[in-house]
Amino acid sequence: MKLATFTNASDATPRVGAVLDDEAGILDVRAACERQGVKAPFDVLDMLSLIEQGAPGLEFLDDLQQRDPARLALSDVRLLAPIPRPRKNIFCVGWNYLEHFAEGERIRPHVKEMPQYPTFFSKAPTTVNGPYDPIPYFPELSKQLDWEVEIGVIIGKPGRDIAEAHAADHIFGFTVLNDLTWRDVQRRHGQQWFKGKSIDGTCPMGPWITVASDVDVSSLDLTCRVNGVVKQQSNSSYLYFKIPAIIAELSRGLTLEAGDVIATGTPAGVGHARTPPEFMKPGDIVETEVAGLGRLENRIGAA
Ligand code: MG
Repeated sequence: MKLATFTNASDATPRVGAVLDDEAGILDVRAACERQGVKAPFDVLDMLSLIEQGAPGLEFLDDLQQRDPARLALSDVRLLAPIPRPRKNIFCVGWNYLEHFAEGERIRPHVKEMPQYPTFFSKAPTTVNGPYDPIPYFPELSKQLDWEVEIGVIIGKPGRDIAEAHAADHIFGFTVLNDLTWRDVQRRHGQQWFKGKSIDGTCPMGPWITVASDVDVSSLDLTCRVNGVVKQQSNSSYLYFKIPAIIAELSRGLTLEAGDVIATGTPAGVGHARTPPEFMKPGDIVETEVAGLGRLENRIGAA
């Protein structure tokens, strides 16, 4: 099942929808509940409420989809980020594909060895942006806007000290995100990447959440294109710290909660490691795609 947050022309209230497998239509959960005279076991306006509900919420949606055949055309709705406003920062992993670590090594010659532990940082909730919305551009802040295609993990069941072997039990689903980075701002604050990773609108996400039982993310192709030109192309099988290891390490002494988002790292091909370095400018189109999870398309906006 694919779950989205959407609005449409006749109703600007963000609400939960279930996207058909062929990606042609979407079930308006609120409208279907009204038509069927049933009450959902979660708040139909709030994806976080559905994620917290977990399996009973998904079973309800399964049943509702079968009872109610009416669908809105996906082309007639506006998809927002599936979680438009996370309750806390997005957790992120740095340097998690070997080739990306190596390309960084060329410009960080003092860092030679693969790390024993993942590098964690975070992005502010105000970075979250829609799957097809413009990316704000701030030329007086920086002109080094870079791309990073990543798989996002959505936590379902909360937990602390989660063992790798049990990590899958805590995953609600997966999504596509781009950890857009204002690269010189990232370097401006010593080893603290937070600011350069937390500029408004730098985490386009979606276009939906694919529930964990419907996808095997151990070997998915990731691609990032700028103006139609492939810049990053890899496969999640090259993740150095696999998703269960990330969850295990992150949750040591730190409670992961329903709706938390973990960005799992980006492969090689980022702009700043190219010769010469490349960055995006207003009018550029960045496409962020993970096969089986979906594709984002965002235009770099004017200031
Ligand atoms: Mg990243």
